[in-house]
Amino acid sequence: MKKFSETAVRFLLFITLFTTVSTYSQKIKTDKNQKEASSFTQKANNDLLSYLPFADKTDYENAKRGLIATIPAGNIKDSQGNIIYDMKQYDFIKGTAPATANPSLWRQSELNSINGLFEVKKGSIYQIRGFDLANMTLIAGKTGWIIIDPLLSPETAKAGLELANEKIGKKPVAAVIITHSHIDHFGGIRGVVDEKDVKSGKVPIYVPEGFFDHSISENVMGGNTMGRRASYMYGNLLPKDAKGTLGTGLGQTTSTGLAGILDGTVKISKLSGEEKIVDGLKVEFIYTPESEAPAEMMFYFSELKAFCQSEDITHTLHNLYTLRGAQVRNGQKWSAYIDLALAKWGDDVEFSFASHHWPTWDNKNIKPYWEKQRDLYRFIHDQTLRLANEGYTPIEIAEMLKLPESLDKESYSRGYYGTLSHDVRAQYHYTLDGLTATLPI
Ligand SMILES: [Zn+2]
Repeated sequence: MKKFSETAVRFLLFITLFTTVSTYSQKIKTDKNQKEASSFTQKANNDLLSYLPFADKTDYENAKRGLIATIPAGNIKDSQGNIIYDMKQYDFIKGTAPATANPSLWRQSELNSINGLFEVKKGSIYQIRGFDLANMTLIAGKTGWIIIDPLLSPETAKAGLELANEKIGKKPVAAVIITHSHIDHFGGIRGVVDEKDVKSGKVPIYVPEGFFDHSISENVMGGNTMGRRASYMYGNLLPKDAKGTLGTGLGQTTSTGLAGILDGTVKISKLSGEEKIVDGLKVEFIYTPESEAPAEMMFYFSELKAFCQSEDITHTLHNLYTLRGAQVRNGQKWSAYIDLALAKWGDDVEFSFASHHWPTWDNKNIKPYWEKQRDLYRFIHDQTLRLANEGYTPIEIAEMLKLPESLDKESYSRGYYGTLSHDVRAQYHYTLDGLTATLPI
């Protein structure tokens, strides 16, 4: 209990820093030093227009599919009336990209700004998207909601749950699944459950083994410096306009409520997979440590033919090294976990959703998506080590390596969040300089 209280206080300190940075950034509207796009930038952006398949609107259809409703006010407030999330802050991103914006990132950011409550599978799977950096998924179990990833702030998670209860029908929260140890996926837990219901066993929380320790390690032990670095990584101090920031690529941006944490009551730890019954539904989990997070898992609802990709499969090239600071990740293991999911469920899956971005429907679309995400991380691993073995340095490899066109032209392989350049350096150091993630004792 004592340990938890101290933890909660430190979390508050960390989030206070985040809030300060974000509030300051909201006050900045214009920057007199903003420049027009140079001829070099304009050429690079124009080249992308002919290189990438912008005519394919499938992602727009999928990002809007199943929309039930959103919050008309377009923002979420805390109990004092402060806006802690503004869904309209990137509303300027519409249509053709201006000369100052990378058109592919502009497109991604427009997709990320589509927000609301969405039906993913009729009568059983719903998502709250664009209410925070991450998604909150709600699955109708036998007695209530199974909530996957209750966002970063209690206020945003609560607003999402209330919208689902209002539009779909009120249900109690029967279970929570937290996919991994990053704060955008668990900080809002107190917005959807009461701690006493967790302690009494009424509401189980499923987490990957090591979830609590790694969450504290990343967000508390290194929390202050990580918060500062995150403000650079996310461009929190830049104005939100066509010459400033367009969002994170992973979602719009982070909310600024008071995040918290509750430890899991059921730990998932088997690399080969394990089955649990979660509020009457069979869920097959695979544990995926040292992938996108040091403690992470993906899982399959066999009765629904639905797969939760967690953050291991998303619509962007992700980070092997995240610039805010966190343990370096291993492209080889990351790729192997996706391959395991393909072997187990690749022929059966019909609904595939993640903790960021929009879902993918139908096996014929899901399978190639999973395969290319697997190949993306494997390519970075294999080619980095091939060139390292030939004697090149990490900086040289980062300059030399290009994705093959079969990957490079897929929007979900592009560097909206991670980049090939720093992922290559991360993989090099992970393998050769001993920056290996460690599992908790
Ligand atoms: Zn996330």
